[in-house]
Amino acid sequence: MNKKIIIANLKMHGSSSFYEELFAQVKSTQQHLAASDVEIVMCIPYPYLFLAEKFFAHSGISWGSQNVAKDLAGPFTGEVSVTMLTDFASQYAIIGHSERSTAYCESDLNIAEKFKRLKEHNVRPILCVGETFIEREAGMEKKVVQAQLETILSNGSEIFADSVIAYEPIWAIGSDMAASPEQAQNMCSFIRDFIHSEGKHSGHNDQKKIPLKVVYGGSVNEKNTLQLLSLDEVDGALIGRCSLSADKFIQICNLAHQI
Ligand code: PEP
Repeated sequence: MNKKIIIANLKMHGSSSFYEELFAQVKSTQQHLAASDVEIVMCIPYPYLFLAEKFFAHSGISWGSQNVAKDLAGPFTGEVSVTMLTDFASQYAIIGHSERSTAYCESDLNIAEKFKRLKEHNVRPILCVGETFIEREAGMEKKVVQAQLETILSNGSEIFADSVIAYEPIWAIGSDMAASPEQAQNMCSFIRDFIHSEGKHSGHNDQKKIPLKVVYGGSVNEKNTLQLLSLDEVDGALIGRCSLSADKFIQICNLAHQI
Protein backbone atom coordinates (compact mmCIF):
# COMPACT_ATOMS: atom_id res chain seq x y z
CA MET A 1 0.00 0.00 0.00
CA ASN A 2 1.00 3.60 -0.70
CA LYS A 3 2.68 5.38 2.18
CA LYS A 4 0.20 7.95 3.60
CA ILE A 5 1.46 11.50 4.02
CA ILE A 6 0.34 13.81 6.84
CA ILE A 7 1.20 17.47 6.32
CA ALA A 8 0.90 20.12 9.03
CA ASN A 9 0.10 23.67 7.94
CA LEU A 10 0.95 25.83 10.95
CA LYS A 11 0.04 29.08 9.15
CA MET A 12 1.08 32.24 11.05
CA HIS A 13 0.90 30.70 14.50
CA GLY A 14 3.40 30.02 17.25
CA SER A 15 6.68 31.27 18.67
CA SER A 16 10.16 29.81 19.28
CA SER A 17 9.05 28.12 22.47
CA PHE A 18 5.89 26.77 20.83
CA TYR A 19 7.88 25.20 17.97
CA GLU A 20 10.55 23.79 20.28
CA GLU A 21 7.86 22.00 22.24
CA LEU A 22 5.86 20.86 19.19
CA PHE A 23 8.93 19.59 17.33
CA ALA A 24 10.24 17.77 20.40
CA GLN A 25 6.91 15.99 20.92
CA VAL A 26 6.44 15.10 17.25
CA LYS A 27 10.00 13.82 17.00
CA SER A 28 9.91 11.73 20.17
CA THR A 29 6.61 10.04 19.34
CA GLN A 30 6.62 9.89 15.54
CA GLN A 31 10.18 9.15 14.46
CA HIS A 32 9.40 5.42 14.28
CA LEU A 33 6.33 6.07 12.04
CA ALA A 34 8.23 8.39 9.75
CA ALA A 35 10.79 5.63 9.33
CA SER A 36 8.10 3.14 8.30
CA ASP A 37 4.74 3.79 6.75
CA VAL A 38 3.65 7.39 7.38
CA GLU A 39 5.38 10.40 5.86
CA ILE A 40 5.20 13.43 8.16
CA VAL A 41 5.79 16.98 6.91
CA MET A 42 5.75 20.13 9.05
CA CYS A 43 5.06 23.30 7.01
CA ILE A 44 5.94 26.22 9.24
CA PRO A 45 6.57 29.98 9.14
CA TYR A 46 9.94 30.88 7.57
CA PRO A 47 11.70 32.05 10.77
CA TYR A 48 11.44 28.60 12.33
CA LEU A 49 12.90 26.60 9.43
CA PHE A 50 16.30 26.64 11.15
CA LEU A 51 14.72 25.08 14.21
CA ALA A 52 13.04 22.37 12.13
CA GLU A 53 16.40 21.54 10.56
CA LYS A 54 17.96 21.34 14.03
CA PHE A 55 15.25 19.03 15.40
CA PHE A 56 14.36 16.88 12.39
CA ALA A 57 17.62 16.41 10.45
CA HIS A 58 18.12 12.62 9.99
CA SER A 59 14.84 11.85 11.80
CA GLY A 60 12.81 10.89 8.72
CA ILE A 61 10.38 13.74 9.48
CA SER A 62 10.32 16.42 6.76
CA TRP A 63 9.77 20.16 6.94
CA GLY A 64 9.00 23.02 4.63
CA SER A 65 7.44 26.43 4.11
CA GLN A 66 3.97 27.72 3.24
CA ASN A 67 5.00 29.83 0.26
CA VAL A 68 7.98 30.74 -1.93
CA ALA A 69 8.91 33.60 -4.26
CA LYS A 70 8.68 33.00 -7.99
CA ASP A 71 11.98 34.85 -8.48
CA LEU A 72 15.41 33.72 -7.37
CA ALA A 73 16.83 37.01 -6.08
CA GLY A 74 16.44 40.73 -6.49
CA PRO A 75 14.53 43.76 -5.27
CA PHE A 76 11.45 41.89 -3.99
CA THR A 77 10.80 43.23 -0.51
CA GLY A 78 9.37 40.65 1.85
CA GLU A 79 9.85 37.66 -0.47
CA VAL A 80 11.78 34.47 0.30
CA SER A 81 13.47 32.52 -2.51
CA VAL A 82 13.67 28.78 -3.00
CA THR A 83 17.45 28.83 -2.46
CA MET A 84 16.84 30.43 0.94
CA LEU A 85 14.51 27.53 1.72
CA THR A 86 17.08 24.96 0.66
CA ASP A 87 19.67 26.71 2.88
CA PHE A 88 17.60 25.23 5.70
CA ALA A 89 17.20 21.89 3.94
CA SER A 90 13.46 22.40 3.35
CA GLN A 91 12.05 19.55 1.31
CA TYR A 92 8.49 20.86 0.74
CA ALA A 93 6.63 24.12 0.14
CA ILE A 94 2.88 24.72 0.14
CA ILE A 95 1.79 26.90 -2.77
CA GLY A 96 -1.58 28.20 -3.92
CA HIS A 97 -3.28 28.00 -0.52
CA SER A 98 -6.65 29.76 -0.79
CA GLU A 99 -5.76 32.07 2.10
CA ARG A 100 -2.95 33.42 -0.09
CA SER A 101 -4.84 33.57 -3.34
CA THR A 102 -7.67 35.53 -1.70
CA ALA A 103 -5.71 37.80 0.62
CA TYR A 104 -2.70 38.40 -1.65
CA CYS A 105 -4.35 38.11 -5.08
CA GLU A 106 -2.14 35.27 -6.31
CA SER A 107 -3.02 34.27 -9.85
CA ASP A 108 -2.88 30.74 -11.29
CA LEU A 109 0.00 31.90 -13.48
CA ASN A 110 1.94 33.11 -10.46
CA ILE A 111 1.39 29.80 -8.71
CA ALA A 112 2.52 27.91 -11.84
CA GLU A 113 5.78 29.91 -11.84
CA LYS A 114 6.35 29.08 -8.18
CA PHE A 115 5.68 25.40 -8.90
CA LYS A 116 8.29 25.39 -11.63
CA ARG A 117 10.83 27.20 -9.48
CA LEU A 118 10.44 24.66 -6.66
CA LYS A 119 10.84 21.73 -9.03
CA GLU A 120 14.01 23.24 -10.50
CA HIS A 121 15.49 23.17 -6.99
CA ASN A 122 14.19 19.77 -5.93
CA VAL A 123 11.76 21.14 -3.38
CA ARG A 124 8.45 19.26 -3.52
CA PRO A 125 5.46 21.50 -4.19
CA ILE A 126 2.30 20.90 -2.17
CA LEU A 127 -0.17 22.52 -4.55
CA CYS A 128 -3.54 23.48 -3.06
CA VAL A 129 -6.55 23.40 -5.36
CA GLY A 130 -10.25 23.64 -4.58
CA GLU A 131 -13.52 25.37 -5.21
CA THR A 132 -15.67 27.84 -3.28
CA PHE A 133 -19.04 26.90 -1.86
CA ILE A 134 -20.82 28.85 -4.59
CA GLU A 135 -18.83 27.05 -7.28
CA ARG A 136 -19.77 23.67 -5.78
CA GLU A 137 -23.41 24.67 -5.49
CA ALA A 138 -23.28 25.56 -9.19
CA GLY A 139 -21.79 22.14 -10.01
CA MET A 140 -18.58 23.77 -11.26
CA GLU A 141 -16.09 22.19 -8.84
CA LYS A 142 -14.32 20.00 -11.39
CA LYS A 143 -14.10 22.79 -13.94
CA VAL A 144 -12.53 25.08 -11.33
CA VAL A 145 -9.97 22.51 -10.18
CA GLN A 146 -9.16 21.54 -13.75
CA ALA A 147 -8.44 25.19 -14.61
CA GLN A 148 -6.12 25.45 -11.58
CA LEU A 149 -4.19 22.39 -12.78
CA GLU A 150 -4.11 23.39 -16.43
CA THR A 151 -1.87 26.42 -15.96
CA ILE A 152 0.76 24.18 -14.38
CA LEU A 153 0.23 21.44 -16.96
CA SER A 154 1.21 23.92 -19.66
CA ASN A 155 4.77 23.10 -18.51
CA GLY A 156 4.14 19.38 -19.27
CA SER A 157 2.56 16.73 -17.04
CA GLU A 158 5.98 15.38 -15.97
CA ILE A 159 6.35 18.48 -13.81
CA PHE A 160 3.91 16.85 -11.36
CA ALA A 161 6.28 13.96 -10.64
CA ASP A 162 6.97 13.65 -6.89
CA SER A 163 4.69 16.53 -6.02
CA VAL A 164 1.66 16.62 -3.75
CA ILE A 165 -1.72 17.98 -4.83
CA ALA A 166 -3.94 18.95 -1.91
CA TYR A 167 -7.63 19.05 -2.66
CA GLU A 168 -8.82 21.73 -0.25
CA PRO A 169 -12.40 22.83 -0.87
CA ILE A 170 -12.37 26.43 0.32
CA TRP A 171 -15.66 25.96 2.16
CA ALA A 172 -14.14 23.17 4.24
CA ILE A 173 -11.09 25.12 5.46
CA GLY A 174 -11.41 26.31 9.05
CA SER A 175 -15.11 25.55 8.97
CA ASP A 176 -15.78 22.29 10.84
CA MET A 177 -17.50 21.09 7.67
CA ALA A 178 -15.14 18.59 6.07
CA ALA A 179 -15.94 17.25 2.62
CA SER A 180 -17.89 14.00 2.69
CA PRO A 181 -15.89 10.85 1.93
CA GLU A 182 -17.67 10.69 -1.41
CA GLN A 183 -16.74 14.28 -2.31
CA ALA A 184 -13.11 13.76 -1.26
CA GLN A 185 -12.80 10.45 -3.10
CA ASN A 186 -14.38 11.82 -6.29
CA MET A 187 -12.24 14.92 -6.52
CA CYS A 188 -8.96 13.18 -5.61
CA SER A 189 -9.71 10.60 -8.29
CA PHE A 190 -10.56 13.34 -10.80
CA ILE A 191 -7.27 15.18 -10.09
CA ARG A 192 -5.18 12.04 -10.55
CA ASP A 193 -7.02 10.98 -13.71
CA PHE A 194 -6.86 14.44 -15.23
CA ILE A 195 -3.09 14.74 -14.75
CA HIS A 196 -2.51 11.25 -16.11
CA SER A 197 -4.79 11.76 -19.10
CA GLU A 198 -3.01 15.02 -19.95
CA GLY A 199 0.26 13.09 -19.67
CA LYS A 200 -0.99 10.52 -22.16
CA HIS A 201 -2.01 13.25 -24.61
CA SER A 202 1.45 14.73 -24.45
CA GLY A 203 3.07 11.34 -25.13
CA HIS A 204 3.84 10.17 -21.58
CA ASN A 205 4.01 6.38 -21.38
CA ASP A 206 0.90 5.12 -19.54
CA GLN A 207 2.74 2.05 -18.27
CA LYS A 208 4.65 4.37 -15.99
CA LYS A 209 2.17 6.63 -14.18
CA ILE A 210 3.44 9.95 -12.93
CA PRO A 211 4.32 9.38 -9.25
CA LEU A 212 2.38 11.97 -7.27
CA LYS A 213 0.31 12.10 -4.11
CA VAL A 214 -3.20 13.50 -3.92
CA VAL A 215 -4.28 14.43 -0.40
CA TYR A 216 -7.37 15.95 1.18
CA GLY A 217 -7.40 19.08 3.41
CA GLY A 218 -10.17 20.99 5.16
CA SER A 219 -11.39 20.39 8.73
CA VAL A 220 -9.56 17.08 9.11
CA ASN A 221 -9.52 16.09 12.78
CA GLU A 222 -8.93 13.08 14.97
CA LYS A 223 -12.60 12.02 14.52
CA ASN A 224 -12.77 11.96 10.70
CA THR A 225 -9.18 10.94 9.88
CA LEU A 226 -9.81 7.20 9.68
CA GLN A 227 -12.79 7.60 7.38
CA LEU A 228 -11.07 10.08 5.03
CA LEU A 229 -7.70 8.34 4.93
CA SER A 230 -9.21 4.93 4.32
CA LEU A 231 -10.37 6.14 0.90
CA ASP A 232 -8.21 4.57 -1.76
CA GLU A 233 -7.89 7.79 -3.80
CA VAL A 234 -6.77 9.83 -0.75
CA ASP A 235 -3.04 9.52 -0.13
CA GLY A 236 -2.97 11.64 3.00
CA ALA A 237 -4.15 14.86 4.63
CA LEU A 238 -3.23 18.50 5.01
CA ILE A 239 -3.95 19.55 8.57
CA GLY A 240 -4.53 23.16 9.66
CA ARG A 241 -5.97 23.73 13.13
CA CYS A 242 -5.29 20.25 14.47
CA SER A 243 -1.57 20.70 13.84
CA LEU A 244 -1.52 23.41 16.50
CA SER A 245 -2.08 20.75 19.14
CA ALA A 246 0.76 18.26 19.39
CA ASP A 247 -1.65 15.72 20.92
CA LYS A 248 -4.18 15.96 18.09
CA PHE A 249 -1.56 16.00 15.36
CA ILE A 250 0.18 12.96 16.83
CA GLN A 251 -3.18 11.19 17.15
CA ILE A 252 -3.87 11.86 13.45
CA CYS A 253 -0.45 10.47 12.45
CA ASN A 254 -1.09 7.39 14.59
CA LEU A 255 -4.48 6.86 12.92
CA ALA A 256 -2.82 7.15 9.49
CA HIS A 257 -0.48 4.40 10.65
CA GLN A 258 -3.44 2.08 11.42
CA ILE A 259 -4.74 2.17 7.85
C1 PEP B 1 -5.73 24.51 5.77
O1 PEP B 1 -5.95 25.71 5.91
O2 PEP B 1 -4.86 24.10 4.98
C2 PEP B 1 -6.53 23.57 6.55
C3 PEP B 1 -6.61 22.34 6.14
O3 PEP B 1 -7.14 24.09 7.65
P1 PEP B 1 -8.12 23.34 8.69
O4 PEP B 1 -7.58 21.94 8.89
O5 PEP B 1 -8.03 24.16 9.92
O6 PEP B 1 -9.48 23.33 8.08
